Amino acid sequence: MNKPLIKLEQINTWFPDNKPVFGKPTSWIKAVNDVSLNIIEGECLGLVGESGCGKSTMGRTILRLAPLYSGKIKFMGDDISKSDDKGLKPYRAKMQMVFQDPKASLNPKMTIFKILSEATALNLRVAKENYLEQAVKLLDLVDLRPEHIYRYPHEFSGGQQQRICVARALATDPKFIVFDEATSALDVSVQAQVINLMKDLQNKLDLTYLFISHDLSIMEHVCSRVAVMYAGQIIEVQDSGSLFDTPRHPYTKALKNAVPIADPESGKELGILKGEVPKLSDPPSGCHFHPRCDYKENICVEKSPKVRKTGKNSQVKCHFHEELWKRGVLRYT
Ligand code: SF4
Repeated sequence: MNKPLIKLEQINTWFPDNKPVFGKPTSWIKAVNDVSLNIIEGECLGLVGESGCGKSTMGRTILRLAPLYSGKIKFMGDDISKSDDKGLKPYRAKMQMVFQDPKASLNPKMTIFKILSEATALNLRVAKENYLEQAVKLLDLVDLRPEHIYRYPHEFSGGQQQRICVARALATDPKFIVFDEATSALDVSVQAQVINLMKDLQNKLDLTYLFISHDLSIMEHVCSRVAVMYAGQIIEVQDSGSLFDTPRHPYTKALKNAVPIADPESGKELGILKGEVPKLSDPPSGCHFHPRCDYKENICVEKSPKVRKTGKNSQVKCHFHEELWKRGVLRYT
């Protein structure tokens, strides 16, 4: 399993940060900044980082739902970076997304049958007269009962609503699904059920996933490989086992060691890192992590580190990754 399903080559997703002067913006919000990465067929790649680091924009950019400023996106070998809506049509069905809030992403006025049929309309292999059969099959795949088919979204729990969203994503026979914080709004026990379902479906249907989350601890159970994002850039990619035992980047270690604090709104615990999350419109010079890094040197302030390969499918972006690795200071104790 080493064939890339998706290849990202120096992709940039920038949004204007001010009113254009003579038709051109003078500053930009660099939500995705010079990212090169492969997503391998059959893997579940995690994308982790603090809120506001550009993770969701990256997921949307890959699906061509956010505007690509520059760079190349290849899906199954085809360059889709410059395709317009018509050109993207054959790929849309193959790439799907499941969002954080299932309630907000299901139309409250539509029955589950209508919701699933609307998505099935994009699947040219299913004839209209077979939509009911297809909807029942989809509900079965996500462990919901067929008699629920004429109910409305509000008649389901949050976990069941997220299963319906997964069923809708499967309606088009996709090859690739982006889960954008798809389990974050669920209770821990329901979260585990949805994750188990995702894993079963991945094996059963040969799917490739991008699993976006701010929660590093969940990645260990879900993902085979994890990419760590900071201020619009990918700063480390490793197999999840290695990433948790022996990270190569100081930010990854800081994320894992983040002090858990109670969040009164969600009732859950959040990991908080020291220092401020950088603004995507005005990130720090050189290595964007330098104001928060315990190991920074002068060069870190002046020069952006290059991305270095550390293995076949792993990489790191830090001037001193080898030295820190040899000193063993990044290992968890
Ligand atoms: Fe820290 Fe420098 Fe490495 Fe950035 S490049 S993570 S500042 S040591």
